[in-house]
Amino acid sequence: GAESARRPGVTVDSSKAKTSLEALKISLRQLRWKEFPFGRRLPCDIYWHGVSFHDNNIFSGQVNKFPGMMETVRKITLSRAMRTMQDLFPLEYNFYPRSWILPEELPLFVAEVRMMKDRNPSWKPTFIVKPDGGCQGDGIYLIKDPSDIRLTGSIQSRPAVVQEYICKPLLVDKLKFDIRLYVLLKSLEPLEIYIAKDGLSRFCTEPYQEPTLKNLHQVFMHLTNYSLNIHSGNFIHSASVNTGSKRTFSSILCRLSSRGADVKKLWSDIISLVIKTIIALTPELKVYYQSDIPAGKPGPTCFQILGFDILLMKNLKPILLEVNANPSMRIEHEQELSPGVFENVPSPVDEEVKVAVIRDTLRLVDPQKKKRKDTHLSFHTHLLIFPTQVQSLHAGIAGMKDKQHKHHSLKLSLKLKFYLKLGSCQSLEQAPEGSEELPEAALPSLCLKQVFPKYAKQFSYLRLVDRVAALFIRFLGVKGTTKLGPTGFRTFIRNCKLSNSNFSMAAVDILYIDITRRWNSMGIDHKESGMCLQAFVEAFFCLAQKKYKSLPLHDQVASLIELCECRLAALRGKRLVWGCG
Ligand code: ADP
Repeated sequence: GAESARRPGVTVDSSKAKTSLEALKISLRQLRWKEFPFGRRLPCDIYWHGVSFHDNNIFSGQVNKFPGMMETVRKITLSRAMRTMQDLFPLEYNFYPRSWILPEELPLFVAEVRMMKDRNPSWKPTFIVKPDGGCQGDGIYLIKDPSDIRLTGSIQSRPAVVQEYICKPLLVDKLKFDIRLYVLLKSLEPLEIYIAKDGLSRFCTEPYQEPTLKNLHQVFMHLTNYSLNIHSGNFIHSASVNTGSKRTFSSILCRLSSRGADVKKLWSDIISLVIKTIIALTPELKVYYQSDIPAGKPGPTCFQILGFDILLMKNLKPILLEVNANPSMRIEHEQELSPGVFENVPSPVDEEVKVAVIRDTLRLVDPQKKKRKDTHLSFHTHLLIFPTQVQSLHAGIAGMKDKQHKHHSLKLSLKLKFYLKLGSCQSLEQAPEGSEELPEAALPSLCLKQVFPKYAKQFSYLRLVDRVAALFIRFLGVKGTTKLGPTGFRTFIRNCKLSNSNFSMAAVDILYIDITRRWNSMGIDHKESGMCLQAFVEAFFCLAQKKYKSLPLHDQVASLIELCECRLAALRGKRLVWGCG
């Protein structure tokens, strides 16, 4: 049993880890896995990429990025995906602020705001404009009126999202703050999601006031970005987890709990926000996945740590601000020692949260996990079989006669010492290199908590667009594309028997051309021609509305999905019978 604990360590290629390298190194040292900082000629078990799936060419093992994730969580793409879900499930997706895409939806934005103001003259909204693909608060500004949108200039002419500004955030120490939560998408099919029990709270550095024309431009009051606030004279580098401008989320929860807030409900709302957001992202991700890793071809499997930025409203309702495909895993920050002289110093708050997230992600995707479980079991069996040995150990084994017995006891005593020594986090760091890997029991309990499939029953009804995406992927063909050609669209209509005397194949072609042209004219991705998933979803909704006029949108879409799935299943059945014949 003890011998079976010895096994070659898991191998990790860290050559492309970039800014997450430091935290990754600490995690690997704690796990005693084998790091290949310059890559390896033989394949590794795990590849840790700093930016994207494509950082390395890999054909096996696991990689910590999904293809297409960066594109899927861009501000515009995320807003579109959320809008689709809001159209289908308005109540369930009210945690995402109402958003419009610029420049194409500017007229719609102007018209809707005017209509809402007409309906409610006391409504004095503020909006936030965020350039697409921007980060760290880059190019963001607040406006009171749609006419204040700046559409000229290099940053301003970039596509952007304009969004309702949340005016009444929860304040701590009179400051606005947001939460960075780490979420592990462990697998797409089947869907597996984990949430880190702790995250970071990032604080503004000027006391908050509700937006007025006078204070709209005060970024240190309205934007919580660390990268902006660090330049404020008021920024406080946190020496502990519950003070300063960056604290742990758990320290905020403690504080809220002591004020009598319902922290359990808050967590359950956050979990629900995370699951619903990932459900909104999976259709697009699946399209990218099949394109980069076609079914049946060799390829790595993927997992990814995402950074969710969440704002709490005064009433503790969590609001999703954005999802980051590459959340910063830096565990140090720059400090100005004297004017113009900077030094990287460790940040204990970042280290505490981020190292645990990386280490526990690795534990969850450990390719040798099953073996580890067996080893762990066999260790317990030892204790059950030789309880007397443990006693004699403490009593002093020197006097024992039986050689074999003594041998077992010695082994056991070494093992016990080993476990005792590894009881605390600090001792993990000092473990000698090349020693046997750590059994789970010697590591701190996992900081990542499974939420899906754990709560699948409550949320599976939301996965409608996933089923539309499955239809889309089916008609894409096998070429590994992400866009549907006109023939594929026609085949979809024909196989699902959706055309009839009222909806001719000529009308099908017109629908395809109209929608595809519009999406391609505003799209970011001009690499391929054809119909992208979101255009297909729009076409699908159109068809559903045509066919089931009297039903609400959700029921129209659900009915059409069922009809298509049924007809395709019947077709497959027929083909099988013909095949057999
Ligand atoms: P970036 O990727 O540039 O950081 P974010 O969407 O995260 O863009 O926005 C930057 C900051 O602006 C957030 O951290 C938050 O403090 C503030 N913010 C963004 N959207 C809203 C909103 N709808 N209401 C209130 N504050 C917001």
